Amino acid sequence: MADRIDLHVHTLASDGSDSPAAVVERAKALGLRALAITDHDTFAGIPEALETGSRLGVEVVPGVELSTMYAGEHVHLLGYYMDENAPELRALMRRAGDERTRRNETMVRRLHDAGYPIDMESLRAEYPGQTMLGRPHVAAYLMRRGYVDSVRGGVVELMGRGKPFYVEREHIPLEDYIRALRAAGGMPVVAHLYQYRYTPEQLETMVTAAAGAGAVGLEGMYSTYTPEQQASVFAMAERYGLLCTGGSDYHGTRKPHIALGTGLGELNVPYALLAALKARAGRTEQRKEI
Ligand SMILES: [Zn+2]
Ligand SMILES: [Zn+2]
Repeated sequence: MADRIDLHVHTLASDGSDSPAAVVERAKALGLRALAITDHDTFAGIPEALETGSRLGVEVVPGVELSTMYAGEHVHLLGYYMDENAPELRALMRRAGDERTRRNETMVRRLHDAGYPIDMESLRAEYPGQTMLGRPHVAAYLMRRGYVDSVRGGVVELMGRGKPFYVEREHIPLEDYIRALRAAGGMPVVAHLYQYRYTPEQLETMVTAAAGAGAVGLEGMYSTYTPEQQASVFAMAERYGLLCTGGSDYHGTRKPHIALGTGLGELNVPYALLAALKARAGRTEQRKEI
């Protein structure tokens, strides 16, 4: 237990339910040695987590989970230890953010025009400080007013692909984000390999492209992997000379079945995976972040 870590964790800065400080406090209470903050497309939770980690003696790894596109599929890319101010990475993230804003505005306007009591101003007012508004926030807003039964149901039924309020948005290509992360000194790692609608051949093609663009790792341990899937990711990583990371994809009460550190109960990510990542990143062991 003392050696356990979690390298895939969401906070209130994106779609998790715990504040960054609360996540680190929870990690401390569970006896985790390290955790990475990997919010969707934002670094906003990192400073508070680093500060809390240094106070409580929990190693906090600065990270992010970027939404990318490869061969028509939304692929999530984890990044660790990147320089948040690197120009290329900043430019791509800003482009993605602008696109997200445009999509939210179009979606909310269409809902409004169809008679739903929603507009951007009141949506924003309900999530003060939240820079990563998206479909779950819109659905939660409508649920609180009795228009949908659940967040998930609202997203799928109203704003899912093929549904009346679905709005397409442009995504940054996987390889572009990998190159930008590397240019920012970061460590790109392809997340949860079995959540994509790829055939085994397509999955292999995606990993080949990711490795070719400079990815350093694959998420080898993950809450919902079967033992066979975990073994095959480790085997794939070995074939490509990539590292493996591991994490729960904790979202707090937004995904209540996933526990920090232990995932669905069996997850046990050893510190050795982080040690290898740090060695690859040129980070010396036990380096203090603050
Ligand atoms: Zn993801
Ligand atoms: Zn995630």
